[in-house]
Amino acid sequence: MPYKFIFDLSRIPRFFFTEITRVGYEQGMHKKMGKTAQDMIKKFKIQEATGLNVSDAVALLEDLIDLQAKNLVEREKFVQTRKRALFLPHCSRKYMDSRCHAVFDPKIPSYICGHCSPDCLVNRAAILAERKGYDVYILPGGSCVPQILKTKHYQGVVGVACGEETKLSGKMLKGMKVVGQSVPLIKNGCANTIFNIKTLLKTL
Ligand code: SF4
Repeated sequence: MPYKFIFDLSRIPRFFFTEITRVGYEQGMHKKMGKTAQDMIKKFKIQEATGLNVSDAVALLEDLIDLQAKNLVEREKFVQTRKRALFLPHCSRKYMDSRCHAVFDPKIPSYICGHCSPDCLVNRAAILAERKGYDVYILPGGSCVPQILKTKHYQGVVGVACGEETKLSGKMLKGMKVVGQSVPLIKNGCANTIFNIKTLLKTL
């Protein structure tokens, strides 16, 4: 339904929108969506498309809103950062067996991509990020993150992960005064996980 009034918000400072998001997020408004979330899930046929039950779909939706809100709240600080890293999940590699030419270096700890497949999501993401000056890590799990951050002292980090991992890493980053941005996995699991490369590019 279109508005019955005309508006132009272009002169309102971006800070205003960030503040609204921040306050809404701090007061847990996205956790109180209840019926609205269920209506959206029905409208977009999320259950049919994903096979999730309603409560799992609501939890997923809440986490996605949570992640977007945190990204928006932290964005201004993130763009000021200089030394940055990208953390990618190893489960997004095209191959999880010997066909993947990545070598795991336990001293970092990270896989180092051998660039064997141009259509590998991890390869594409790594190339994009390195062009933008990021150090790229391909991680077997979130437990590698503190080890890297303690030795490398990054100011900003972009992490690709599921909602649960993002929540855990977010707390850790806050404690270490590192500014984070997240890109959600749109397909999770132990292998062949997927994230949106365009979303990542916008976030970098
Ligand atoms: S492109 Fe890199 S991460 Fe992807 S399968 Fe090849 S070596 Fe592994």
